[in-house]
Amino acid sequence: MRVRRIGAVVIAAAAAASLTACGGSGSGSDKFVVGIKFDQPGLGQKQPDGSYKGFDVDVAKYIAKELGYTDDKIEYKEAISANRESFVQQGQVNAVIATYSITDDRKKKISFAGPYLVTGQDILTRADDTTIASVEDLKDKKVCGAQGSSSPKRLVDKFGAPWKDQFLTEQQGYGACLPLLENKQVDAISTDATILAGFATQSPGKFRLVGKPFSEEKYGVGIKIDDKETRDKINTAIEKMFKDGSWKKAVDANFGEFGTFFTTPPAVERY
Ligand code: GLU
Repeated sequence: MRVRRIGAVVIAAAAAASLTACGGSGSGSDKFVVGIKFDQPGLGQKQPDGSYKGFDVDVAKYIAKELGYTDDKIEYKEAISANRESFVQQGQVNAVIATYSITDDRKKKISFAGPYLVTGQDILTRADDTTIASVEDLKDKKVCGAQGSSSPKRLVDKFGAPWKDQFLTEQQGYGACLPLLENKQVDAISTDATILAGFATQSPGKFRLVGKPFSEEKYGVGIKIDDKETRDKINTAIEKMFKDGSWKKAVDANFGEFGTFFTTPPAVERY
């Protein structure tokens, strides 16, 4: 009996805590905690002055504003590919906006608003390496990817477990793959074209984006699986961002030349 009563108190406390975390729309009294990447130029990058920059950051700010949070009420937490589901599931963040592809596997654990951008998996090589022209050429190349990302998984599905053992290196983030590519410890990095384009732009002349995407990556906003109300609100915010020109503005501001690939926003998938 005692145990059950304590259990009920814990549940009530948890419910109250989750109300505080997710509610507050318009009140501005609490924070909107969002998981973003810190090491991906053009998408989510922590600046030397401690501010954050990138397309995902602009999406986060827009959504936060629509949910009633001013910029100073947004708290950014570093999401890496591998911690995104657990960040959401454990309630460490209100939302993950971190080059986060909507996949059926992930949808078993969390839910997604969006998509707010669609890109494809591509390849980054050293600028002077002409031996890689398509994904097929990776079958005997050393490739770097990020743990917990869908990108290396796609290559393992294609080339098999022996390829994984012999050729794949997995780091915590793509930023950590860059020196390996430069020092010729790997021959390629493979993930979303958006991410790779950001790295290529950051170091002109060093790397080459192959430019032959071989998947469809729909970027979604990861939130708690049972929170349809927030999902609907975020979807409405995303659609508003598309319509009022803010989406295009964010594309142009963050992707530079690569932004010309994103002429029209995707259709939001409500469920
Ligand atoms: N969009 C892919 C994913 O969600 C690759 C990028 C990343 O790992 O952040 O896994």
